[in-house]
Amino acid sequence: NSEAKGRIVKALSGYYYVLPQEAESSGQTVQCRARGVFKKRGLTPLVGDDVVYTLTENGEGTVEELLPRFSELIRPPVANVDLAILVFSVTEPSLNLQLLDKFLVHIEHAGIEPVLCLSKQDLEQDGGETEEAAVAIEAVNRIYTAIGYEVYGTSSRQGVGVEALHDRLKGHVAVFAGQSGVGKSSLLNALVPGLDLETNAISNRLGRGKHTTRHVELVEIGGGYVADTPGFSQLDFTELGIEDLGYCFREMRELAPDCKFRACTHVHEPGCAVLKAVEEGTIAPSRHQNYLTFMTEMKERKRRY
Ligand code: GDP
Ligand code: ZN
Repeated sequence: NSEAKGRIVKALSGYYYVLPQEAESSGQTVQCRARGVFKKRGLTPLVGDDVVYTLTENGEGTVEELLPRFSELIRPPVANVDLAILVFSVTEPSLNLQLLDKFLVHIEHAGIEPVLCLSKQDLEQDGGETEEAAVAIEAVNRIYTAIGYEVYGTSSRQGVGVEALHDRLKGHVAVFAGQSGVGKSSLLNALVPGLDLETNAISNRLGRGKHTTRHVELVEIGGGYVADTPGFSQLDFTELGIEDLGYCFREMRELAPDCKFRACTHVHEPGCAVLKAVEEGTIAPSRHQNYLTFMTEMKERKRRY
């Protein structure tokens, strides 16, 4: 019974659908059960897992082994994601830099590479929204490009920037993230022919995400994979330690070795290289301010629990 390697692209009703490594282009998956031994060891195979499987007589398969994971997301539950497309709209809803930084903290903490996407750029030409959109585009390009983040401008409505984003996904396992209503589903629909996700921000009314009942699936896209449902749209800091926070702001992480104290929190310490950079204007004030706000939030949270 020969073993083969593949990737789980879908999980449904106790079955795992494995795309064989050799047959990646055909798209033909093998329907597999997992070995009972996984459950005993508290291991759950996830969509995105690279696995070793064997074929059984009836054309189905058995997942024999889970290969080591590069990363593990909870929402959506996908393993081995290495790229997060963080979507923010230039307007409707308005750009919120604090929320943007919060998303970036989570993505950096998960060890996943973030790419920023500024969506709905068609609204820049639309009458009254012109100025807000223009200010948002300028701010994001100024603050985030300077610290090494890639920024893609898109309009799903006009099909702008979709091809560039498509190319960027090549060779990656990507997930889309961002607050509700920024156009993640619309972008996914534009990127993946036939996907047809429901797009409408209002269905979030009950506090439940509109996608909660869908099963996440990885779809192939130009030599990569993308989770077919938008990821974490709500965030809290439950899994992050205060000491991790500075590390999740990449420009602070870079400067930290120059701080006088090894465990510098970049709040009030003398000889702090980060505070100096904020004063000199090489670190954006909004970034440091959001860092302080998150730290306060985390301390309050710790007090309460
Ligand atoms: P999600 O909640 O992030 O998945 O956002 P959706 O894709 O559901 O889009 C939310 C709303 O924004 C919908 O009414 C879309 O029609 C609208 N929208 C999405 N993309 C664009 C765009 O590129 N331009 C404009 N003007 N509206 C968009
Ligand atoms: Zn410091």
